[in-house]
Amino acid sequence: MTGSIDRVVVVGGGIAGVSTVGALRSGGFDGELTLVDAGEFPYDRPPLSKEYLCGERTFEQIALRSPRWYQDEEVRLINLSMVTALRPAEGKVELGDGRLLAADRVVLATGGQAARPPIAGVDSRRVHVLRTADDADRLRRVLVSGSTVLIVGAGLIGAEVASAAVELGCKVVLVEPTSPPLAAALGVEVAAWLHALHADRGITTVAGPVVSCTEVSSGIEVRIGGHAQARVVDAVVLGVGMVPETSLALGAGIEVDRGFLVDSGQVTSNPAVLAVGDPARCRGRDVPRAEHWEAAQLDGQRAAATVLGAAPPVPMAPWFWTDRHHRHVEVVGRMSDAERTVTRGAFGGRAFSVFGLRGDSIVAAVAIDDSIAVRAARRMIDRSMIVDSASLADPAVDLRKLLRG
Ligand SMILES: Cc1cc2nc3c(=O)[nH]c(=O)nc-3n(C[C@H](O)[C@H](O)[C@H](O)COP(=O)(O)OP(=O)(O)OC[C@H]3O[C@@H](n4cnc5c(N)ncnc54)[C@H](O)[C@@H]3O)c2cc1C
Repeated sequence: MTGSIDRVVVVGGGIAGVSTVGALRSGGFDGELTLVDAGEFPYDRPPLSKEYLCGERTFEQIALRSPRWYQDEEVRLINLSMVTALRPAEGKVELGDGRLLAADRVVLATGGQAARPPIAGVDSRRVHVLRTADDADRLRRVLVSGSTVLIVGAGLIGAEVASAAVELGCKVVLVEPTSPPLAAALGVEVAAWLHALHADRGITTVAGPVVSCTEVSSGIEVRIGGHAQARVVDAVVLGVGMVPETSLALGAGIEVDRGFLVDSGQVTSNPAVLAVGDPARCRGRDVPRAEHWEAAQLDGQRAAATVLGAAPPVPMAPWFWTDRHHRHVEVVGRMSDAERTVTRGAFGGRAFSVFGLRGDSIVAAVAIDDSIAVRAARRMIDRSMIVDSASLADPAVDLRKLLRG
């Protein structure tokens, strides 16, 4: 079934890499399968800004798979190791200790690093980022009751850290230049409502760009553009996005443009090298990289299908979630494609959803504590269904019935 593909090496043990090896095995790949990861043991990242940061889950509890799973699936896990070079022409990858691994196919699942914008003083030990479990451990040590933390960026991760920090008893200042943040992803109404929740929880929100961070005897002094008064806090957290890790591809002459460029089967410009997850970007489509958990997981399934010569997973409208201040937010489709919106349930109430429509079709939905609505919306989007706005807006109408037509 797999032709001459007998050995696959997956580089990176995040959700994209682990999903790739899982889908290869469940799809029947019976060759040699190796997963190399720089970290201690492959773990999941979303809890890092939620339960793990709040001390509600341990490192073992955020493992993507148990140690036993790798044994049972005969996946050779090489952790605490870096792949330092690809040699696709020789069918090999090189590890940091000089070892060479034979590979008929290499899957790059290398994720990225948290961005550190060029702001004076961001290299201070009081300035934190959040991408890895080590970052979260460092952050947990400073997010102690009574400390003051300033978070730069009120996007998905910044807002989640703000929520966790308040939960842990910190005083929080949240700085963001755009108003409201995440308007493109959530639509302006929901974005503004969600941002306002911070103030309800006692968080000080400040508009403006951070221009400098300077260590002082009592903490770190932060200057914000447009504000005369600097703020002195105990710690700063940067939540301003990630930088894709593409150095291996660049070193091997593989095409990179704001991420690994891949085709619809996740194949890079070198046919023996595939790429998945946060750093992968579809060639020819000028859309940003997804940078969400499910997208990375699906990339892994698609890459496995390509290696196996099997049918790829059925395409679905993109979906992601985020949690803040005890509200569970899910987004499906692209709100930026919507011409108008329809609200279901009382806006701002216990559970509600905002559907984005283009013509009479649903193109997106944002649901707050309303998973049923988002699941139904996804199926409506996938089927390009024409939906009556009045029925959508009426919480008494069962969305699953609408789906049945
Ligand atoms: C704090 C946080 C919270 C998040 N919350 C959400 C959420 O609520 N909802 C959501 O949809 N998404 C969320 N995300 C996004 C989601 O977690 C990412 O999209 C996903 O982790 C991407 O997976 P990945 O496998 O592409 O990359 P990563 O998870 O970054 O994994 C890449 C792995 O590759 C390893 N690696 C890199 N280079 C090498 C090398 N040369 N050799 C060996 N190993 C290497 C790294 O050590 C790393 O383990 C969150 C992300 C973060 C950081």
